[in-house]
Amino acid sequence: KNIHFIHGPGCPVCIMPKERIDHAYILSQQQDVILVTLGDMIKVPGSHGSLQDARSQGADVRFVYSPMDCLKIATEHPNKKVIFFAIGFETTTPMTAALIEQVIKQKIDNIYFHINHVTVPEAMTMLTQSKIDAFLGPSHVSVISGSHIYAPFPTQYHRPVVVSGFEPVDVMESISMILKQFLENRCELEIQYKRAVNPEGNQRAQALINKYFEPREHFRWRGIGDIAKSALRLRDAFASLDAEVIYRDSLPTKEIDDHKLCICGEILKGEKNPKDCKVFGTACKPSSPLGSCMVSSEGACAAYYKYGNLL
Ligand code: SF4
Ligand code: SF4
Repeated sequence: KNIHFIHGPGCPVCIMPKERIDHAYILSQQQDVILVTLGDMIKVPGSHGSLQDARSQGADVRFVYSPMDCLKIATEHPNKKVIFFAIGFETTTPMTAALIEQVIKQKIDNIYFHINHVTVPEAMTMLTQSKIDAFLGPSHVSVISGSHIYAPFPTQYHRPVVVSGFEPVDVMESISMILKQFLENRCELEIQYKRAVNPEGNQRAQALINKYFEPREHFRWRGIGDIAKSALRLRDAFASLDAEVIYRDSLPTKEIDDHKLCICGEILKGEKNPKDCKVFGTACKPSSPLGSCMVSSEGACAAYYKYGNLL
């Protein structure tokens, strides 16, 4: 009963600040643009509305399951500019890098990128300031990055890390591994998800990421604030593909805060529970989300809304 699970800021949709959602919206309004993005991004409200709203007002906004689908869209619409609004942690960054590689190799001249890829270790470092005793390391990210990225957490921050799979039995085993560490007075980095994760990770994917991207000095996480070097940008050598550079004059840089009643940031840091939010289930529900944690069925608030009576 005294084990509490906290939805960390592990979702690229949840943590996207409104000003960058506004970038996507504004890009979708530019002449001859087809804006392409992944999954739930299309539903998150920015200050002008969501991409879904933009689409219902006539903008050409599409969502794809793989960034590579942009190649087909660009070939079918040679007179349009296809802008890929790239989101995701280390799991999806290599897919964007692979698309960039193809765009360059195939000399495709109508695909551009708005890069919003974020990185896990910097967010975890920020979380060490919260009351969190141990981390379950994310499996899919770790397949790419390797478990070595968590090395400082047991040594420098005194938090055990167990890299866990997603299946219920994986999570249960990972929790028992963490409890065992506490009982045996150990504080270590362990891998439960050994069937896919090793210390080094996928070095080819890492090389591809490094080829095209470099860390941004600053990136604001929705509800949390600035986390230094926690996101990637295209290297200057690829500025001709960078929609943030090309449309610089149209894209606002001003930070936009969330609805003042929304406490997503505190929820993502484990300081509050969705039910602590004054508008949970009333003004904010899955059919009319005020904050990002209510958008996806996996979001902390949406999960509490759906399963709250079981918790
Ligand atoms: S219930 Fe809605 S407004 Fe409240 S914290 Fe969750 S997403 Fe934000
Ligand atoms: S919680 Fe976050 S998990 Fe995850 S889908 Fe958001 S919206 Fe994404």
